[in-house]
Amino acid sequence: MSDCLFCKIVAGDVPSDKVYEDEKILVFRDIAPKAEVHLLLIPKEHIESLNELSALEDSVVLHMMQQLPLLAAMAGIGDGYRTIINTGQRGGQVVFHLHIHLMGGGKLPGF
Ligand code: 5GP
Ligand code: ZN
Repeated sequence: MSDCLFCKIVAGDVPSDKVYEDEKILVFRDIAPKAEVHLLLIPKEHIESLNELSALEDSVVLHMMQQLPLLAAMAGIGDGYRTIINTGQRGGQVVFHLHIHLMGGGKLPGF
């Protein structure tokens, strides 16, 4: 996906503040944080949104979920954090490469 911002970040063509990377996923700091800690976790393989999740291997989906508590602990928010996946324009999605927002620190507003 040559015109996808997050694919460019995976490829290293757009710089990012990386906090974790392995063969399946990349995790970096959100450029406009909405909490003290605001990370974005993405699969390296391009899929647009949660609606295309079935195109990802089960092992990648499971890995993404299983890394969340470890990443939260690494970022110092293991005792409480919020995960958000915006799907589609009407769901607030702006970047159309699946990502999980991992947020915490301070006091998160009510939801
Ligand atoms: P969405 O609204 O699609 O769920 O979230 C997209 C997120 O990507 C936003 O929180 C936005 O701040 C973040 N973002 C947009 N452009 C960039 C960028 O170039 N680098 C990083 N690190 N984050 C970005
Ligand atoms: Zn992409």
